[in-house]
Amino acid sequence: MRLAPHWRVRAQRLQLRGEVCQCCGERLFPPRDVCPACHQPADKPFAFCGEGTVYSFSTVYEAPKGYERFAPYTIALVRLKEGPLVTAQLTDIDPADVRIGLPVEMVTRVLREEGEDGMVIYGYKFRPLLEREVAGTEARE
Ligand code: ZN
Repeated sequence: MRLAPHWRVRAQRLQLRGEVCQCCGERLFPPRDVCPACHQPADKPFAFCGEGTVYSFSTVYEAPKGYERFAPYTIALVRLKEGPLVTAQLTDIDPADVRIGLPVEMVTRVLREEGEDGMVIYGYKFRPLLEREVAGTEARE
């Protein structure tokens, strides 16, 4: 197993990045450079807080190639606190415990492994929101 060079995954590991429309304030995820609400250019980077709630979900039993070891797993449509809907895999939860409205937060996890040398691909997933005693100790860029 080989890890991707740190610099390639750093930004994605720390934050869920999208864009904000400077015309109407709409938050965009994923970034698409044109605001869907007012059709003006939207290219100002915006970092989402990474928290949201489960809007809908479905459990995958027959996983596509590269994802077999996660099956069964749950793919959810997550409504971010800032508004956009994001599709992502849920983690750290039994598929039977997933419900609409469940508070979740983004975490960085191994998405899949690729190739003969097991190149590890990182990406975001969502897990049930944890109660924390102290926040703000995570590394910043
Ligand atoms: Zn706009």
